[in-house]
Amino acid sequence: MPQPSDDAALLHVGDEVTGSFRCAECDLLVTSPAENDGVLVLPACPLCHSEAWRRVG
Ligand SMILES: [Zn+2]
Repeated sequence: MPQPSDDAALLHVGDEVTGSFRCAECDLLVTSPAENDGVLVLPACPLCHSEAWRRVG
């Protein structure tokens, strides 16, 4: 599998998402909740304060 480096795949703070995402800087995993229609509003990373996330899977 090639590793695409498309920056278009990055999501940012405030984006409403579903699924699992990793911090673009430190790889912290966040997953949208089962409640609230499964929608997660992306925060700044609590570890490194990055504002960019990439979708997992
Ligand atoms: Zn981070």
